[in-house]
Amino acid sequence: MLLVISGPSGVGKTTISHEVEHRLGARFSVSATTRPRAESEVEGRDYLFLDESEFRRRVEAGEFLEHAQVFGRHWYGTPREAVASQLAAGHLVILEIDVQGALQVRASMPGAFMIFIDPPSEVELLRRLRGRARESEAVIQRRFEEAKREIELARTSGAYDHHVVNDALEPTIDAVCALVTEARRGARDR
Ligand code: 5GP
Repeated sequence: MLLVISGPSGVGKTTISHEVEHRLGARFSVSATTRPRAESEVEGRDYLFLDESEFRRRVEAGEFLEHAQVFGRHWYGTPREAVASQLAAGHLVILEIDVQGALQVRASMPGAFMIFIDPPSEVELLRRLRGRARESEAVIQRRFEEAKREIELARTSGAYDHHVVNDALEPTIDAVCALVTEARRGARDR
């Protein structure tokens, strides 16, 4: 089964996705991106870091299951072949991608199971974005506006199977695992 997890930055979706990966023995799809690698990141583990021309070549060759320019800055894409072979081997495959990409997956793979992680409130989201203390207030405000737009698009698109509020991490991870387990059982029984 293909599992798509999305949510605004600061909502905790990366932690949730990786925990679901470990608990359910899933495979995490490594995306390609044109954004620069951060010091803590490892090529091939966190992302495949590509320059724009190589990214464009792969788009034109149809090598991405979906791709999108996130926040109007850098490009991100899911390698089609890696996902297809993991699915063919019977694995649960997790894509942690933005809403634009998720809408493409919904169109090309209607059987995908898609979960959107919501913050408990806008006030709490802003508090979490500030709490990371990695960025200036201007950057935080920009991320906050982008987050609100992404939440709105996710809701109005109706594309997600479930919206889960991340009030506290552990219960949220439990809830996501339970939803996925139930969906896999349903898919097997059909
Ligand atoms: P970051 O640069 O902080 O790692 O990721 C920024 C955003 O890009 C996140 O919302 C993340 O979910 C999204 N993203 C990461 N990989 C992909 C991908 O392959 N496709 C799409 N559409 N979005 C992605």
